[in-house]
Amino acid sequence: MSITVHATQWIHFQIKLYNLHSKTRSLKDQKLELPLPEFHQNLIIFTSAAHHGLTFGYQAIQWDTPYTSCPIYIEHQSIPWSTLEQRSHKHITEHITAIFLETMFYRQSQFKQCQFCFEFIIPESLFDHTTCQNCASRHFGVVY
Ligand SMILES: [Zn+2]
Repeated sequence: MSITVHATQWIHFQIKLYNLHSKTRSLKDQKLELPLPEFHQNLIIFTSAAHHGLTFGYQAIQWDTPYTSCPIYIEHQSIPWSTLEQRSHKHITEHITAIFLETMFYRQSQFKQCQFCFEFIIPESLFDHTTCQNCASRHFGVVY
């Protein structure tokens, strides 16, 4: 199954389960996360209900020190509640799915392949556009 099919099925299920089109019935402060390890263990997309609307984003890594990191959540897009409440259920499902997939493709495009180890790496763990931090240490003598 491609990640597009996986993500589409998942978001359709969440829309029904949580009535994501409706502010009043939607998930409160919960964040719904979809990990997509079939692409990369660090590709995680989320949707959550914020005050201003339904938000979409991805999990990223924040390096607190060169050796310790913690996950952070980056909001990429959102749909205002007023927009969702004005439209038909079918239209809303299409709209939410489109924004969710857009967010996924955006994050996916940030992963770069390392020129030395050929691994796909999240931008937060890259030394530069073509080298991961491990290989930068090994090949360029960069000390973290
Ligand atoms: Zn590498």
